[in-house]
Amino acid sequence: MIRVSFLCLLLLGLSLQAASPVYVVLWFDTEDYIEPASDDAALRIASDLTAAGVRATFKVVGEKARVLESRGRRDVIEALSQHAIGYHSNWHSVHPTPAEYLVRLGYLEGAQEFERREGPGVADVRRVFGTQPVCYGQPGSSWGPQSNPALRRLGILVYLDEGDQVGLDEQPFWYGGLLHVFHMGRNTFRAQLNVGAEDTAAYQRFDETAARLRSSGGGVISIYYHPNEFVTTEFWDAVNFAHGANPPRDLWVKPRRRTAEDSERCYGVLRRFVAHMKSQPDVRFVTARDLPGLYENPLPRPADRKAIAEHLSSHVIFQDVQGQMLSPADMLLALLGVEPAIVDGPTAAGATTWSEPAIPAPAFQNATADAADFVRRAHRLPSEVFIGAQTLSLPDFAATLAGSVLNPAAQVPVIRGRIEFDRYFATDPRRPFNWVIHPPGFSAAPLLDLGRLQGWTLKPARLSR
Ligand SMILES: [Zn+2]
Repeated sequence: MIRVSFLCLLLLGLSLQAASPVYVVLWFDTEDYIEPASDDAALRIASDLTAAGVRATFKVVGEKARVLESRGRRDVIEALSQHAIGYHSNWHSVHPTPAEYLVRLGYLEGAQEFERREGPGVADVRRVFGTQPVCYGQPGSSWGPQSNPALRRLGILVYLDEGDQVGLDEQPFWYGGLLHVFHMGRNTFRAQLNVGAEDTAAYQRFDETAARLRSSGGGVISIYYHPNEFVTTEFWDAVNFAHGANPPRDLWVKPRRRTAEDSERCYGVLRRFVAHMKSQPDVRFVTARDLPGLYENPLPRPADRKAIAEHLSSHVIFQDVQGQMLSPADMLLALLGVEPAIVDGPTAAGATTWSEPAIPAPAFQNATADAADFVRRAHRLPSEVFIGAQTLSLPDFAATLAGSVLNPAAQVPVIRGRIEFDRYFATDPRRPFNWVIHPPGFSAAPLLDLGRLQGWTLKPARLSR
């Protein structure tokens, strides 16, 4: 009897462990359109990985796709096409970069401008590679939240990059309707290219990280390089576009090259690192194309309105409600009776001008119907909701609505909403945007403010079981 129980526990333990996979997303920002040796580097890396049975994600810059085409590099295009193809902006470091052109635009006009500037690059990558790019990541730290609605319109639903502007417990998250692999903290690192024939410290770090993730239900490790790093000792853009410089094309200079032997050594470092990762148990290499399929659908099933109201009346932040992870936007839609949908957050902070402690129920019902109509038509949350000529800010409206679901009454008490998702966003307007390409002192507080408003859509992504 005891033996049987032990066996059961053992089998249970094994099955739990088998259900805790470690996914490695290996990605390459394929961006250098100035030094042609970078084309060969991309070819070599893609071919080595294909030979090793590993699939990676190559995020390609629009101009890089165009020069591969004009240089007749079908070999590079075909080698990269064995892997997932993403998008890494149209011009990368030619000014204005995304954060530069987005910083003084609001949410909606910024999204339009992103689509105007980046849409043609997406189309070129699609045309040259014959496939729709599956992910986007900003050049350098040139981030702006207006990219999210634009990317959805461009058919790109995964955000794969690194940065400090927003992050959630070092694992993938849903934000602005896109699955983000971003700000991965301890779960992003690499084998250093400049330490010799191999970087054994990275192997140890990988093993420790994989063990930690396995013991906590599984997760993602994000590892990235640039093909140009394998053939040059300087970045192609830093030698041309640093600190806001924008020389014309005929003045572009090439970065310093590695020797052929040194490049060979670098390819070896990556090859050995990949072989080490691949040899570990329960480790799977996945691409940006695979990622959405690994996670639960972000659109929630119908949930109990009282359970949602219980949470939203006192906390405006994502929450597990009856086994489903819901963003504040998911919760608000449920309380409004709007069918589950991907929506954006508000475009402005909004203000509460209603000064009485309660609102007559008929007036509040009108306001609620109006808010629901706004969400259905605009596919975003209103910044404020009108009660006659007065307003409730979105947080105050959401908390008040939640309170009215819990305790229906002839006078609906106004409840102040408590935003609690701000801690997942950077506050320093300079440091997260510190990139050698941006002008000195580049500061982007408005992008962080807009990004924080979109925290209504933020929630952890959960691996499917
Ligand atoms: Zn880049």
